[in-house]
Amino acid sequence: MIEFTNVSFTYEEAARPALGEIDLSIADGEAVALVGASGSGKTTFLRLLNALLLPTDGRVTVDGLDTGDPVNLWEVRRRVGLIFQNPDNQLVSTTVERELAFGMENLGLPSAEIGRRIAAVLVRLNLEHLRERAPHRLSGGEKQRVAIAAVLAMRPVCLALDEPTSLLDARGRREVWEILGELGRDESRTVVHVTQFPDEIGLSTRAIVLDRGRVVFDGSPVELFSRAERLSEWGLTLPSAMVLSDRLRRAGLGLPGVAITLDELVDAIVAAPAGSLS
Ligand code: ADP
Ligand code: MG
Repeated sequence: MIEFTNVSFTYEEAARPALGEIDLSIADGEAVALVGASGSGKTTFLRLLNALLLPTDGRVTVDGLDTGDPVNLWEVRRRVGLIFQNPDNQLVSTTVERELAFGMENLGLPSAEIGRRIAAVLVRLNLEHLRERAPHRLSGGEKQRVAIAAVLAMRPVCLALDEPTSLLDARGRREVWEILGELGRDESRTVVHVTQFPDEIGLSTRAIVLDRGRVVFDGSPVELFSRAERLSEWGLTLPSAMVLSDRLRRAGLGLPGVAITLDELVDAIVAAPAGSLS
């Protein structure tokens, strides 16, 4: 459980707070999409999650541990794994296997356990064929998958990702989407995913919108996209599945429900009454 209690944060010498009066909790296993225009405070929020930054006011706790108490620093960092926009900033080793072992060695895990976890995470993220490769020679999508694998191998209770697909090409983005979709469904781990892509928001079950450091929306992705009049103000557009649904409906296809991911749209088309498009 992650709790923000009346949290504000102001960078040194900044004229106004980057985040103000944030009050929310994130339950274990939730998959949260954190969105908002550039400069709205998303990265600052993630940095507060794992004590890279400490609140100027208020309190952040992770599993009851106050991030502001220096005694808790190690435990908080162990619980919250951070993935950055640019995987090049995160990869340090000469092979993928070494990269995966690195964080676990720092945790002091026995080598047999490290070996078992490497094997499991290589399979889970479809990286087995890259085991001996040099991380810096991989494609962007592969690098980001290695960075995610290295953090997952340390088994954090919360994985926080800061626009992990924004520097990737279309193929890399698809590779990482698959992982995000899988992690979102995995209720044994909390995911907080910062994204600017409307199509990625449906990979989460909860959406939080920041606007100039304030929480202005907290609800389901479907509710978020029903607020069409506010979206552009929040730096968002409708996801492609909704744009396509709208065109299909105007063409006469009787689609049930609201689809916000392409998978859901395909399901809706398959379920549409036969012959409804005439
Ligand atoms: P986002 O990730 O949503 O783009 P950030 O959390 O990076 O937003 O930034 C929130 C606000 O804090 C912005 O106004 C930004 O200019 C400011 N800010 C971010 N980092 C720093 C910093 N290191 N020093 C001063 N101000 C900063
Ligand atoms: Mg940011």
